[in-house]
Amino acid sequence: DKQSSRYKRLLLKLSGEALMGDENFGIDPKVLNRMALEIGQLVGIGVQVGIVIGGGNLFRGAALSAAGLDRVTGDHMGMLATVMNALAMRDALERCNIATRVMSAIPMSGVVDQYDRRNALRYLSQGDVVIFSAGTGNPFFTTDSAACLRGIEIEADAVLKATKVDGVYTADPMKDPEATRYTHLSFDEVLEKQLGVMDMTAICLTRDHDMPVRVFNMNKPGALVNLVVGGDEGTLIDS
Ligand code: UDP
Repeated sequence: DKQSSRYKRLLLKLSGEALMGDENFGIDPKVLNRMALEIGQLVGIGVQVGIVIGGGNLFRGAALSAAGLDRVTGDHMGMLATVMNALAMRDALERCNIATRVMSAIPMSGVVDQYDRRNALRYLSQGDVVIFSAGTGNPFFTTDSAACLRGIEIEADAVLKATKVDGVYTADPMKDPEATRYTHLSFDEVLEKQLGVMDMTAICLTRDHDMPVRVFNMNKPGALVNLVVGGDEGTLIDS
């Protein structure tokens, strides 16, 4: 029974933190493998998958800057961290026999390809997973903004933001037992209510270019494929 996808092409945003599993730094190979298998399920039903991966499990510019480092240097370190995560994710995907390309917004000849939109579109059309690393290539941005930017560039049907909770809640569900999940929000509601879904730059970009965002729980096994085949998962944000 072959399930069919409601999306043809997706941009999946994975945070660096998600790769740590139960540790507080680095990469947990078990988590990587589980994610690779879930991404493989999407590829298996014919979805084209682009991925933007974060770096917060290794370095964050803002945290380094708070500890005394130059902010731009810290952001460069953060972006390099995303390249390491991308290499680890490619490794896990390829061990599952999923053809994967890594592109970087910062040229790194001999390690990964440089980001090139037309090449990315060609790889996606042939069914390869493409991981976009090094964020936007610029300091003072986040990988959420990079995910929205790449999603818009590759004309994805949606940006899927993987988190640790089931979607966007009225309050922090970890702290407030009364908190309920929004199934749907508009971009303006997210901005008005100042819901910390993504940074302002990312939300404004998706709003201005009418790119739907779905926030879902990547720790919930099967949630990714379920939402792609039409299940009620997470929170949909659109106009
Ligand atoms: N970063 C950056 N420009 C970008 C994307 C990321 O300078 O376009 C840096 C920034 O320092 C950030 C770090 O890379 O803190 C890791 O990215 P992010 O915090 O978005 O990772 P995540 O929270 O998703 O793990």
